[in-house]
Amino acid sequence: MQTKIKQITPETLSEAKTIILDGGVVAIPTETVYGLGGNAFDDEAVKRIFEVKGRPNDNPLIAHVHSDFDLKKIIDYDPPYAKKLREAFLPGPLTLVYPSTGKVSPYVSCGLNTLAVRVPSHTGAQAFLRKVDIPIVAPSANLSKHVSPTSAAHVFEDFNGKIPLILDGGECVGGIESTVCDVTGEIPVVLRPGLITREMIAAIVGDCKEYIPDFTKKEKVKSPGVLYKHYSPRCQTKLFDCKDVERAVQTAKAQNGVRVAALCETFFVSKFEKIGLPCLNLGETETEMAGNLYRLLREAEKICDILIVVEPRKKDGVMEGVLNRLRKACASVDIEH
Ligand code: AMP
Ligand code: MG
Repeated sequence: MQTKIKQITPETLSEAKTIILDGGVVAIPTETVYGLGGNAFDDEAVKRIFEVKGRPNDNPLIAHVHSDFDLKKIIDYDPPYAKKLREAFLPGPLTLVYPSTGKVSPYVSCGLNTLAVRVPSHTGAQAFLRKVDIPIVAPSANLSKHVSPTSAAHVFEDFNGKIPLILDGGECVGGIESTVCDVTGEIPVVLRPGLITREMIAAIVGDCKEYIPDFTKKEKVKSPGVLYKHYSPRCQTKLFDCKDVERAVQTAKAQNGVRVAALCETFFVSKFEKIGLPCLNLGETETEMAGNLYRLLREAEKICDILIVVEPRKKDGVMEGVLNRLRKACASVDIEH
């Protein structure tokens, strides 16, 4: 199969719609990362997405809809605080997890009794979702475990020959995936941190908890995505806390016969440049670091065998999401479950 990259126009939106209604898969841009879109009502299309990504079949998908989509078509339980969150943050990088009603394919939620729904703000994503006017499941358009894609070229790297069409909506500005927030209980619970922080959610509805899975209990993990090694470049990584930056520099120096590079915030860059090492600069602000992370991890795998990573100094707010991705990218194994 030939994979085409096309700008978003009325013609390419029609082409995308035809593919989707035929049970096929189309890559689409969003403001966070590119997604691999398929019809959420179509069992075969949903199964195809798991297959083409190599995604574990217990890691559920998010249904994407346009901003005028009638949510009652796919959910019924909708607490007043969820409405407040939608008014405050949607369209935007916030996914809300509702009790499921069984309206979309059972393969979407992988046996969980919930359904995750997101309304992306990217104009290209909105145009596509309006055109098809059905919920579209769209996990990040990368092979499972690989770095998430923030450009059409990244999607092409992973899926050339495997999908017919990539809609090119430019570079994603957000850079990390949406915040996933459970709204099935009395107060919202963040299952995956992202650009909409717990503090921002609490400021709207008064309270917000963080979900910390208890792996010692036999209970079903609420967001299976948290279990997996993820977002990883195809080079070896060595992660250091910002307090251990000198040790990171020494470790970089001690590598022989392999290509070494560093990845860190602007503040630490000169430490690696001083020893003549290529250094990928994450940036200074938290939004800059979120926006650059995946692009730099993909660049890293092209220029080095070992990547020395120094965690940024700031750990809260948006950095919670950035650190969550960075630590998983550097993890060597899946968590047993
Ligand atoms: P991705 O689409 O690749 O960004 O991954 C989707 C994320 O949303 C994963 O971490 C999933 O575990 C999470 N997710 C999707 N559906 C649900 C759900 N029904 N309940 C909890 N988490 C979900
Ligand atoms: Mg993903």
